[in-house]
Amino acid sequence: MLYIGCHLSSSAGFKAMGETALKINANTFQFFLRNPRGGAAKDIDKKDVDAFLSFAKEHCFGKILAHAPYTLNPCSKDLKTREFAREVFADDLKRMENLPNNLYNFHPGSHVGQGVAAAIPQIVEILDDVMGEAKHTTVLLETMSGKGSEVGSTFEELAEIISKAKINAPERLGVCLDTCHVFSAGYDIINRLDDVLADFDRIIGLNRLHAIHLNDSMTEFNSHKDRHEKLGKGSLGQEGLIRFINHPAIRNLPINLETPNELEGYAEEIATLRANYQNF
Ligand code: FE
Ligand code: FE
Ligand code: ZN
Repeated sequence: MLYIGCHLSSSAGFKAMGETALKINANTFQFFLRNPRGGAAKDIDKKDVDAFLSFAKEHCFGKILAHAPYTLNPCSKDLKTREFAREVFADDLKRMENLPNNLYNFHPGSHVGQGVAAAIPQIVEILDDVMGEAKHTTVLLETMSGKGSEVGSTFEELAEIISKAKINAPERLGVCLDTCHVFSAGYDIINRLDDVLADFDRIIGLNRLHAIHLNDSMTEFNSHKDRHEKLGKGSLGQEGLIRFINHPAIRNLPINLETPNELEGYAEEIATLRANYQNF
């Protein structure tokens, strides 16, 4: 079953996101629980959430994916920034308990000069502090492109964080694979998809892969840049991305577009993907 959607604005609430998704023929979506810069979150409106939950059930939606604010950096050199990450992370996870059995995605962070070896224990420490809040949510580390001092651009780094976390059962802690990011990080999912997924399985475990960000890239393979492009307009190309979503390891996961589009553009991309998804 193809679960396909895109990033949506949460400003009008959950039911509104569900309705917008349906309008563009999506059956999942991604959203922020608060301003992406990390400001205060609105209180959860129980009525709105319940209306969304029955709407999602009625329309057979897949799991939805909350994205942590971009300012959340669990491995900052600066203690205050790490404390902020801990607070926001825990608070977001508490909110997600109102929407059980969904997903929460975060960037492992940027070590800003202190090195990966110092960063990983800091990320693990914060995970250990907040994971208790995620009783009904699967927390996902996003695969990163490796721009600047980003942690999490190799499968090994992600595996190390996961293996060191105290609460790390595969249904509680996993990975969201971003196609633009992994391609920029040097994983050739266009020409060597089977090999890359075999590496993922050996190093992290495919049982930990819970979600996909589907993006083309403005920059070339192995560029260590992070510039999303519309599907088919970038270095990954439409054919390869269609092969990707049809792969047995990918085809039943929730897939969200983060391409530079308005709703109309997303609707077109979703239509193209649906038309090229093999139903069997
Ligand atoms: Fe992201
Ligand atoms: Fe992403
Ligand atoms: Zn990105």
